[in-house]
Amino acid sequence: MSVTEVVDPATLAGRVADLAAQIAADYQGRQPVLLGVLKGAVPFLADLSRGMGPRVDIDFLGLTRFGTEGRVGIAMDSATSIAGRHVLLVEDIVDTGLTLSYLLGLLQTREPASLATATLLDKRTRRIVDVPLEYRGFEIGDEFLIGYGLDWDGRFRNLPGLWAILDLAEFQDDPSGLAHVVFGERGDRVAP
Ligand code: 5GP
Repeated sequence: MSVTEVVDPATLAGRVADLAAQIAADYQGRQPVLLGVLKGAVPFLADLSRGMGPRVDIDFLGLTRFGTEGRVGIAMDSATSIAGRHVLLVEDIVDTGLTLSYLLGLLQTREPASLATATLLDKRTRRIVDVPLEYRGFEIGDEFLIGYGLDWDGRFRNLPGLWAILDLAEFQDDPSGLAHVVFGERGDRVAP
C-alpha cells in the first residue's frame, strides 16, 4: 500500500480536545477570534472551537501562492475587524514557516490585542523561518500527509484520519484506492 494511516480519528479527537481545553483555560475571561487559514484548517478549527465553549468568534482567510519559492498573498480576506481583539491564527500545518511568517506580519499591522498561533501539525525539521507556535497538535517528520483538512491535488481533505503518502508514484497511479480503503463501498470510484 502506498499510503498508511499515521494518526487515527480517535487520537486526533483526543489531542484536539486537549488543545481546546488548554486554549480555553489560557483565554479565560476573553473572547478570542479563531482565524482559520482556508482550506486546510477547516476540520481542525471546527473541532477545536467546539471544545472551547461558547465565547469564541470564528472567521477565515484564504491564501494564494505564487511561483515555487512559497510567496503568498491574500486571496480572500477575513471580514472580522481584529483591532483590539485576541486573535488565534489556526493552521493545519507549519512546514518552512514562510506562510505563517507572512500571515503574522500582516495580522500584526491590524493591531490585535494579542496574536498567537495554533497548528495541528508542525514539521519542525523543515523550518526556514523561525516562527512562534504557541499551540501544536503533533510534531511530525518529513512525510507528505493528507486527510483531516490536508489535500493531495485538492482531494482527501475529508478523510477522518491523517495518512502519509509513502510512495507518490504508486499513489498517483490509483489515488481512488485510498478512498475505497477509508470509505469502503462509498469510496467506490465515481467521476469527479
Ligand atoms: P509553509 O509555508 O510552512 O512551508 O507551508 C505551509 C503549507 O504547505 C501548508 O499550509 C500546506 O498547504 C503545505 N504543506 C506542507 N506540508 C504538507 C503536507 O505534508 N501535506 C499537505 N497536504 N500540504 C502540506
